[in-house]
Amino acid sequence: MNQQSRLTFDNSYARLPERFYSRQLPEPVSTPGPIRVNEALARHLGIDPDWLASREGTEVIAGNRIPDGADPIATVYAGHQFGGWNPQLGDGRAILLGEVIAADGIRHDIQLKGSGRTPYSRGGDGRAPLGPVLREYIVSEAMASLDIPSTRSLAAVTTGEPVYRETALPGAVLARVAQSHIRIGTFQFFASKQDTEALQILVAHVIARHYPDLAAADNPAQALLQEVVSQQAQLVARWQLVGFIHGVMNTDNMLVSGETIDYGPCAFMDNFNPDTVYSSIDHGGRYAYRNQPRIARWNLAFLAQTLLPLLHEVQEQAVTLAQESIDAFPDLFRDAHQQGIACKLGFRPEGEEDESLLKDLLSVMGETGVDFTLSFRHLADLANGDAGDEGVSAIFEFPQVFNSWLERWRKRLEKEPTTPAERQGSMYAANPAFIPRNHLVEEAIEAATTDSDFEPFHALVERLAKPFEYDPSQSRLALPPRPEQVVRQTFCGT
Ligand code: AMP
Ligand code: MG
Repeated sequence: MNQQSRLTFDNSYARLPERFYSRQLPEPVSTPGPIRVNEALARHLGIDPDWLASREGTEVIAGNRIPDGADPIATVYAGHQFGGWNPQLGDGRAILLGEVIAADGIRHDIQLKGSGRTPYSRGGDGRAPLGPVLREYIVSEAMASLDIPSTRSLAAVTTGEPVYRETALPGAVLARVAQSHIRIGTFQFFASKQDTEALQILVAHVIARHYPDLAAADNPAQALLQEVVSQQAQLVARWQLVGFIHGVMNTDNMLVSGETIDYGPCAFMDNFNPDTVYSSIDHGGRYAYRNQPRIARWNLAFLAQTLLPLLHEVQEQAVTLAQESIDAFPDLFRDAHQQGIACKLGFRPEGEEDESLLKDLLSVMGETGVDFTLSFRHLADLANGDAGDEGVSAIFEFPQVFNSWLERWRKRLEKEPTTPAERQGSMYAANPAFIPRNHLVEEAIEAATTDSDFEPFHALVERLAKPFEYDPSQSRLALPPRPEQVVRQTFCGT
């Protein structure tokens, strides 16, 4: 039997006109070695995980062997990076191997990241160091386990070749999975070339692929814009609810599928401070935690702009439709965020009083700088007596200044129709105990990069697969960093 038949491709993007991509094979590497295979995801995609972990599977991920049915391409896009327009970007270190359709009928891209140069590499080498590959693996999978739409990590391999950055680093390739890799920047590329035909093709492709219900809309471009605005509002609300800071919210890093993409300088906040920025290149704090909703809206305005010629033949009317769609963002975001926080606090939001309860909590958290994740998890412990040693209360407690807020919160809970046990159950399901804390991610990367010790990486990935189940024997992975462990800066994986 042909081993390669275990991957069944159907490559819809490669069937689009040739100006959407360049055909490009990955560049082979000297001595590929397996790091990890995501067994559950492989099975979901109909790929045999044992084959993926085999010599042959490792060679496919490394780019040394092209499986039957693949049609490797590098896609083209443009984008605003830190506010500045870049007319020509594209997959500079990634190859879209092809698309597979999962058992649930959903189409997924399989992309190799770090697979060598492409026509869009500009000055880059097309390669990825091991550290950023492990970071993306850990954080993207943690996001998925937190129920936040995200690109996924199917497998990672080492290349056996060094990658030269400030120093020589081990090279690696990540197999990334996404419902598609179509970005706001993909629309921007064609809009900037005034290629309305390509925009029409792209809109039809995205609707057929991600939002088939919109195909029957009177104005499909407007329906798509509204849908993407809504998806992004919900996505960013979910980031805020877990303290996730993306770090590089450029328009080429926002997918119209509504999945989180690009785990370069991203980080989860430890102590609550809305001004937090980790990325070493984000000098002005453009992508700080508190700015994320505003930036998402800013990015969406560019998506709207690209769609103007499709929204209405009269330009003024097109602008009005675009504006209306974008103006919906703040309310959509606020609703999603308030619903989410109320759920984290154990009640359904009702009126202004609840809004001020939520606001006051965040303001005490901000003043005291308590740990964001453990604060909410501790509240879940407190929702039904106290979980004692079985909960995070054994490793975290609120300072005294929270007492009056806690009293208000308890009074508010009495008005709920749910029992304390029910409330606690739903709060545990909304407030993770384990998140990919920066110091743990760095520790895993350091062990792998300097000692070829992948144990901390595997242990972290496995622990983060069940973020809502606290295990006191693994409290080390739930604790915030000690002062000497604090990571203040993260770096893009380039
Ligand atoms: P990012 O910062 O990951 O959003 O990447 C921005 C752009 O730089 C994209 O077009 C990437 O494909 C390209 N790029 C990043 N790293 C490399 C690299 N090592 N080699 C070639 N192109 C790269
Ligand atoms: Mg990117």
